[in-house]
Amino acid sequence: MGGASVIEISEKAIAGNIKFLRDHFGEKVLMSSVVKANAYGHGAATFVPLAEKAGIDHFSVFSAGEAREIMKIKKSDTRLMIMGWMDDVDIRWAIENEVEFFVFDPERLRTIIPLSHALGIPARIHIEMETGMNRTGMNMKELRQVAGCILKNPSCFLLKGLCTHLAGAESIANHVRIQKQIARFTRLCRWFSQQGLEPEYRHVASSAAAMTYPSARFDMVRIGILQYGYWPSAEVLIHYIGRKKEKIDPLCRVISWKSRVMAVKKVKHGEFISYGTVYLAREDKKIAIVPVGYSYGYSRSLSNQGRVLIHGERVAVIGMVNMNMLIADVTKIPDISAGDEVVLIGCQNDMTISVASFSEFSNQLNYELLTRLPEGTQRLVVD
Ligand SMILES: *Cc1c(COP(=O)(O)O)cnc(C)c1O
Repeated sequence: MGGASVIEISEKAIAGNIKFLRDHFGEKVLMSSVVKANAYGHGAATFVPLAEKAGIDHFSVFSAGEAREIMKIKKSDTRLMIMGWMDDVDIRWAIENEVEFFVFDPERLRTIIPLSHALGIPARIHIEMETGMNRTGMNMKELRQVAGCILKNPSCFLLKGLCTHLAGAESIANHVRIQKQIARFTRLCRWFSQQGLEPEYRHVASSAAAMTYPSARFDMVRIGILQYGYWPSAEVLIHYIGRKKEKIDPLCRVISWKSRVMAVKKVKHGEFISYGTVYLAREDKKIAIVPVGYSYGYSRSLSNQGRVLIHGERVAVIGMVNMNMLIADVTKIPDISAGDEVVLIGCQNDMTISVASFSEFSNQLNYELLTRLPEGTQRLVVD
């Protein structure tokens, strides 16, 4: 278990974010909620039912392992899509359970045919096309094979989607490359149509592109980071807010991470605090020991850098972040005692520690910090 800390998940924030996003994208665009990496650290088992309550009926994950976990908790008519890793045994499982999945290799398509025949169920596939990211995705030669294979074995496949992934829509630096990708995607969809193959959904956009390039929304968007209350980059937020009268962020952070003071003690000036010589007390200090360390996702790179909230004050993390503990400088806080609340991410009185401020300190992106929050830490749903 993840030490003496708890991750609070705000039901109201999830509902508000999802409502804003669905309204923004419009009724004609399906919003798939991306819940890979344990719902970006929020805890898939906690997040999925709350997202369903807010109207989500399509989820996306990276691997078949993640899909099997979501399968246990989702409503029966909620759809599920695997965007990445599957073993051959997973392909059989996915077909049987009507789980949709990406095909980025003609070989995967050939694996499907005998399985689908044996089960008497078509595979629900999304054809991933190479448009310029050069990661997964099939080139023209492979797409010809794929189209031929689908046309020859119509009972084996439901063509749920044609899709691609963009190479960094969160940065204006990639603008030309992104525009090229969207144009190439459009041409490839037209080519499929000429072969007599129409997908149910065409999809390209993750959070950044869905906000910044309306033409990239097509029939469906795959939304991860936004629904948790974070913008993919400052540029995307500025792009959105720049054209609005009211300069307020419409999203709300879903996560708070809290712990408690474990012990308080005094240290004389001239002493080093914690391991080694990383922190020297230049004056008499009062310190609070907090039972959260790098094994719980609080990065070592926040040693001597991080900030936490105690008694509504922003205080410094001093010395090394240890495996299970960190030390906060509470010299200026009177009457502090063991058991007092410590906020690692979130609000206390009118102060906030955001993942973003935290990430700048530690050179981690929001994405990375969130997804490192361990599964073992308790998730608690709050209003
Ligand atoms: C992770 C992922 C997304 C979601 O990305 P966000 O930036 O979090 O919205 C969308 N599509 C694919 C293929 C992904 O891997």
